This record gives sequence, structure tokens and C-alpha cells, in this order.
Amino acid sequence: MSRLLNVENLETNFRTADGELPAVRDISFSVDKGETLCIVGESGSGKSITSLSIMGLLPPNGYINGGSIYLENENLTGKQEEEMEQLRGNKLSMIFQEPMTALNPVLTIGYQLREPLTIHKNMSKKEANQASIELLDKVGIPNPNEKLTQYPHELSGGMRQRVMIAMALACEPSLLVADEPTTALDVTIQAQILDLINELKSEIGMGVIFVTHDMGVVAEIADRVMVMYAGEVVEMADVETIFEQPQHPYTQGLLDSVPDVDDMTQELKVIKGSMPGLNDEIGGCRFHPRCPLAMEVCKQKEPPAFEVTSTHYSKCWLQEVNQSGKPNAITQS
Ligand code: SF4
Ligand code: MG
Repeated sequence: MSRLLNVENLETNFRTADGELPAVRDISFSVDKGETLCIVGESGSGKSITSLSIMGLLPPNGYINGGSIYLENENLTGKQEEEMEQLRGNKLSMIFQEPMTALNPVLTIGYQLREPLTIHKNMSKKEANQASIELLDKVGIPNPNEKLTQYPHELSGGMRQRVMIAMALACEPSLLVADEPTTALDVTIQAQILDLINELKSEIGMGVIFVTHDMGVVAEIADRVMVMYAGEVVEMADVETIFEQPQHPYTQGLLDSVPDVDDMTQELKVIKGSMPGLNDEIGGCRFHPRCPLAMEVCKQKEPPAFEVTSTHYSKCWLQEVNQSGKPNAITQS
């Protein structure tokens, strides 16, 4: 598979009354064509800010402080807003948890679906109309013809979500960024939408970044998983490895907090404590105050990203213990 997106050493900060706050701290990752990368972590981990940084949709007080974001051969970090607008709805599309943030309440569904097709795909109004009907059909909307003349408020939440997904997919984007798009939906519709994204991914070779805190969704949709904690990437691996051989205590904590449907008697474990705030300076490993396996070194020194295999890494000192076989090796250095 060929490389679609390359993010290197991305740093995203916020300007606030308390000063400059780092929300994304030097993270690197890539997405191939036809691949789904799931970004997981609790709220406040930096997963949404990472997506918004890629889309060029950071709030006014947010800015990219360092690093690069390449979509194929184009560096997105240097682009003017107009250039980003051109890319969004064409090569880059985003779907949000709340569809009303993407839909315009005063325009019909038909107008909103046709617009990107006439602008970016040079379709006539008639062609765009036909294409819109096909798109609505694809996202499982019954009687698509009638829906074109309706306004967003006339549709149910699940329908609006599907319309937004149809809009995001209208121009067959190279990269779809989905931020918790199914969280508010019931499980049946959620499953349909995940299937649809999977289908389109293989059909048009689109790359997908899917942000979620739901490990059940991850199991359904991910090829690879990137685990974020407090603005950093703490573990990255393919989906089977994340579920079967998670290395980072935070990833293990996320997995332990998923209910086991085969064993309802089991007590759910929660990760104690809460995510640090953006301005909380924590020395050493940023997870150490909550980590059940923290060692002395964890409070002193920030762990590097250790390679577990060539496609798996974990930002945790335990890796050094495992690799050296000497539990004391690190505490003596
Ligand atoms: Fe826990 Fe230490 Fe690993 Fe951090 S480096 S996750 S504190 S064991
Ligand atoms: Mg979020």
C-alpha cells in the first residue's frame, strides 16, 4: 500500500490566558491508502486536536507550533486558509460527532450535497442531483429523492448523521477523518455506518483516520491503532497486536475497562485518577501518577518510544526491562 499521509513531529499549542499550552506534543504517524488508523484515548488525550490540525480546522487560539503534515506530496502546515478550503470537501473530508456542526440548517439536503459536486467535480446540476441520490442510497437512506428537498431539522439524528457522511464522501476523498462519528447513534445504525466506511475504504482506496474512545469500534474498523495519552502517542501497532499483546499500561487499562460480553460477572476495572490538564507539568512519564506499574525511573525520566517489533512501539520503560532482562538496568543509569 502506498503512503497517503505523513505526520512528523507535530506540535499543536493553544494560546490562553495562562500562556501557551501544548495539546499535541511531538507526535509522528502515517496512514496508507486504503488503511484505517484508529486514534484512541480518553477525552483530553489530544486525539481530536490531532484531527483538527490535519484538517486545518483548529479553533482560533490553536496553532501548529512545529512539525509537518504531508498529504501525498503537499505540506498542509504551510497552506493558506483558501487552499485548505479547496482541499476540504475534495481530497480531505471530515465527519463529526454532531452532524449539525457540518450541516447548514437553512439549506436543503439536496443543495448541500450538490454543491461540492458542482464545485470540485465540475458536474452539472442535473448530474450532481443524480449523484446525490446515489450517495443517499449508499448511506442507507430510504426514498433519497424526497430527502433532497428537505431541511436538516426534518430528519432524525441518525438520518442527519448519514447525510453528513454522504456529504463527506461525495467527492471520494483521499483521506476521511472521522471524529467519534457514531458515538451518539444506536448500535444498529452505528454498525451500518462502520460497514459503509469499510466498504468505501476498499472501493475507492480512501485512507481513514477514525477517532474514538470505544475499543469495540476499534475492533470493528481499525487496521492499525494509535493510543494517545496527554498529548503524546504512547503505543502504536496493528489492531490484532493491540488487542492481543498490548505493551503500554495505559493501553492495557483501556482494554480492561471494556465490558466482557462473555463474562458479565467480571468487575470492570477503571483507570484510577484522571488525565492531566494541558498546563500540568509532569516530569518523567506523563502517565506515572496513574500507572499501576510505575517504577522509580518513571518519575525521573521521560521514556523514549521503544521498538517492540518493527511495526509496534511503546513509550514505556517496561520495554527496556523486558528487552534487557534486567529489571534494575534502568534504575541504575
Ligand atoms: Fe507506567 Fe513507567 Fe511505563 Fe510510564 S514508563 S507507563 S509510569 S511503567
Ligand atoms: Mg474529542
